[in-house]
Amino acid sequence: MIYKLAFKNFKLAFPILHTAKLSTTPLNRDKHNCKLLIVGGGTGGCAVAAKFAKSLNKKNLVILEPSEHHYYQPLFTLIGGGVGSVETARRNEKDVLPKNSVWIQDQAAEFIPKANVVHTTGGHTIEYDYLLIAVGLDLRYDKIPGLLDALSRPGGVCSNYSPKYVDRTFEALSVLDGGNAIFTFPNSPVKCPGAPQKICYLVDHYLRLNKKREKVNIMYNTSLPVIFGVKKYADALWKVCKERDINVNLRTNLISIDSDKQQAMFENLDKPDIKTIVEYSMLHVTPPMSTPECLNQNKDLTNEAGFVDVDKSTLQHLRYPNIFAIGDCSSSPNSKTAAAAAAQSAVVYENLSAVMKGQEPQNTYDGYASCPLITGYDKCILAEFDYNLNPLETFPFSQDRELYSMYFLKKNLMPPLYWHLMLNGYWNGPAPFRKLMHLELNGKKEKLIT
Ligand SMILES: Cc1cc2nc3c(=O)[nH]c(=O)nc-3n(C[C@H](O)[C@H](O)[C@H](O)COP(=O)(O)OP(=O)(O)OC[C@H]3O[C@@H](n4cnc5c(N)ncnc54)[C@H](O)[C@@H]3O)c2cc1C
Repeated sequence: MIYKLAFKNFKLAFPILHTAKLSTTPLNRDKHNCKLLIVGGGTGGCAVAAKFAKSLNKKNLVILEPSEHHYYQPLFTLIGGGVGSVETARRNEKDVLPKNSVWIQDQAAEFIPKANVVHTTGGHTIEYDYLLIAVGLDLRYDKIPGLLDALSRPGGVCSNYSPKYVDRTFEALSVLDGGNAIFTFPNSPVKCPGAPQKICYLVDHYLRLNKKREKVNIMYNTSLPVIFGVKKYADALWKVCKERDINVNLRTNLISIDSDKQQAMFENLDKPDIKTIVEYSMLHVTPPMSTPECLNQNKDLTNEAGFVDVDKSTLQHLRYPNIFAIGDCSSSPNSKTAAAAAAQSAVVYENLSAVMKGQEPQNTYDGYASCPLITGYDKCILAEFDYNLNPLETFPFSQDRELYSMYFLKKNLMPPLYWHLMLNGYWNGPAPFRKLMHLELNGKKEKLIT
């Protein structure tokens, strides 16, 4: 175990969440044509771009992505807990995009699906034959009054969700010596719904290792009516919370912060008149999230919630057959994780390739998502499940247990798998390993060990 002892300079933080980056575009502002345009060079966009870069000509594959850097976000939980630095999760965008593609470093401002055109904030017009939307979720720290102010100064407020703020978490934890440590889950869809509580368990473990646990009251305040969506893992997590004396408050939503008084205000979502003010020493905030505005304002492309309106099996747009979506911005009702994007990447590639050949999409996505629920610096419950919230476990044993092996997998094996396999188009999730590790007799799966 390596704990971070020194704090990093916040200037290392990351440039873009809402603002346009208009310079260093490899192409002039102009009109462009391509066969496939991928909007968003994050997890899902890069994985699919890598697959198409093997078959399309360079000029036919355009990626529109504003950021200078690409982050492996699943590491943010460990970084917030003091394991590793934000640099370990960062690569230059130019190094993760396929060489055989054109990168326009700009952001989509307007989608015009009827004309097969995307306009950018920097003035480019890009015409495409096929479009993949992979713009992820925007972090809306601005939606909670007082939060941006609290995140701009010392005082215990932190958030693992952005590379801009993730270093603040361990900074707050290192000086935590008493009072309330509060962890929140907002009243909106989020990426990695396990992450808001994973950091809570790391904080508990850190305090125990440093003999300060009895001085701190830990609260997990979630807007959800459950601790986790899949019952098997929820049961295991309730046990962890009970054993570690973590107070879980369901349907409890953070609505404002007064950082001068170090107070947070919560509403009870079942009884909105009831508001509670709680003092905090440490407050880890998971911000509300939404798809980027250029997308959610486009009613032609999105559902009522602002997500790209796709068929949940084929991931093809319901009204525009030449458009697909992948990852967090898609309406497919899976848990929004990089693991889900990996499984989707093969489906999108196969189905988009079929459509390019004038065929019907045949490949289907089952909703697979996984969430390594870190419950300490040496243990993890690896949750894996499908659209129906049924466990879809890779290993031939029941995965609702805290195991060091799953922690090792999360910390040491998943990052290289992401950088070297997934971003090069070679990782589509663990389905083949699952089939190998489970006996499939007469279509009925049986575990080797229970
Ligand atoms: C703290 C934390 C912990 C996590 N833990 C895990 C985990 O343990 N396991 C797991 O599987 N997943 C985890 N995730 C979730 C995972 O990182 C995301 O689900 C995944 O990155 C989604 O991929 P994406 O391509 O949809 O979006 P992203 O990877 O976020 O990429 C979206 C891209 O679109 C770009 N973009 C945005 N707007 C525009 C625009 N207008 N025009 C062009 N480009 C645009 C952005 O710059 C970005 O590069 C975690 C996330 C966080 C924050």
